[in-house]
Amino acid sequence: MTANMTFDALKKAVKSGEIDTVLACFVDMQGRLMGKRFHAVNFVETSFKETHCCNYLLATDLEMATPDGYASTSWQTGYGDYIMAPDLGTIRPMPWLESTAMVLCDILDHHSHAPVPHDPRAMLKKQVKRLNSLGFGAMMATELEFFLFEKSFEEIRRGGFRDLTPISGYNEDYHILQTSKEEHVMRPIRNHLFAAGLPIENTKGEAEAGQEELNIRYADALDCADHHTIAKHAVKEIAWQQGHAASFLPKWHKDRVGSSSHVHQSLWKDGQPVFYDKEKDLGKSEIMSQYMAGLIAFAPDYTYFLAPYVNSYKRFAKGTFAPTKTVWSVDNRTAGFRLCGEGSKGVRVECRIGGSDLNPYLAQAAMLAAGIKGIEDKMELSPPTSGDVYEDAKAADIPQTLRAATETLRNSNFLRDAMGDDVITHYTRAAEWEQEEFDRTVTDWEIARGFERA
Ligand code: ADP
Repeated sequence: MTANMTFDALKKAVKSGEIDTVLACFVDMQGRLMGKRFHAVNFVETSFKETHCCNYLLATDLEMATPDGYASTSWQTGYGDYIMAPDLGTIRPMPWLESTAMVLCDILDHHSHAPVPHDPRAMLKKQVKRLNSLGFGAMMATELEFFLFEKSFEEIRRGGFRDLTPISGYNEDYHILQTSKEEHVMRPIRNHLFAAGLPIENTKGEAEAGQEELNIRYADALDCADHHTIAKHAVKEIAWQQGHAASFLPKWHKDRVGSSSHVHQSLWKDGQPVFYDKEKDLGKSEIMSQYMAGLIAFAPDYTYFLAPYVNSYKRFAKGTFAPTKTVWSVDNRTAGFRLCGEGSKGVRVECRIGGSDLNPYLAQAAMLAAGIKGIEDKMELSPPTSGDVYEDAKAADIPQTLRAATETLRNSNFLRDAMGDDVITHYTRAAEWEQEEFDRTVTDWEIARGFERA
């Protein structure tokens, strides 16, 4: 666990008055930080042991609704409490907020004190443990793409989300000139996160007006997911401090490129990359081939964990660098999976399916489960594809809608075995609810198309 503040250091900082507020946060189903702001004295004296939250928080949607159909929590059972157990290995300052530190919490059952199985952090820990029992550890990196807008969230909301003007007037892919104009937002993002203990690599302009990318150095899977979650939160807060909105919605305009979150993955043993075999083609070991075979074979099963909303599926369009096929390729950005770093110790697989709205704990847990299955069953990897994969009729498709991905999730015996029946049933309900909410909505598109002419 990387943190740049021990509990003792926090106590000292509280005593000296340097820190007066501690945020105790857990990660919800949507990948957001939720929790409470503690007076720092109370936290270091008592609440560091545990605090509590309502158990609807792991059975809600982006709007904080209380949908029916969840076995774990309901009006019938009275919406009781969960324990939020601070993981003291994750204490870090939040330098963009005054005198504030934070800690991540695990969610435990109020009575048994056992981990709640559908807590995203618990789900990832479970798969890491399974991988560890095969003798391996996982290193992961998740790229964060997002858009910056001229106006703030509040101004945009008051305007009915109509006046969405990106911060830049043109495609800013790798642009130094345009990104210099955005340094009042991006520089504090890099520096504050670095000071919070996140191994920030770089930021760059992305391939659309107002689109940004933040790269964080790869780390153990759980650290990587923690980093991603904290960074995404910080991007929104720091942009807000500067009067701008930062959006991780994967597709905010039909004619604009969407935002992704590519996930780089490699397995290690005793500090050595087990994906690397210098004798083999591309430097790709047998273990790597099996892991990739599992990733590819089960991609339809876990697509929901990479694309959890109706909007997520609007990103999967031809010719936009967002993949539509479950195939792999060598350094080809049109395939769902790309082998990077060929012939070197840095050889790894990048999954390009996930959108910027993914919850990194769920995405990584699902992909680890698929890779583990590939290794356990010694699955065979198909040959790489090449050329424009969008036009490859033989290549299998990623589920193209939330409805389709909900069915592949519901019917996945592999995921039910790997993650638990109760967990998959829980997230299937979340997926259904998202679709039900959308189906109840009358969209602007329908009105404009049919109001006069239907
Ligand atoms: P690009 O030039 O496409 O940005 P990079 O070499 O910077 O590619 O790597 C992209 C991401 O992959 C970075 O976040 C990096 O930390 C991560 N990465 C590099 N090596 C590994 C590895 N062995 N396992 C997992 N992730 C890795």
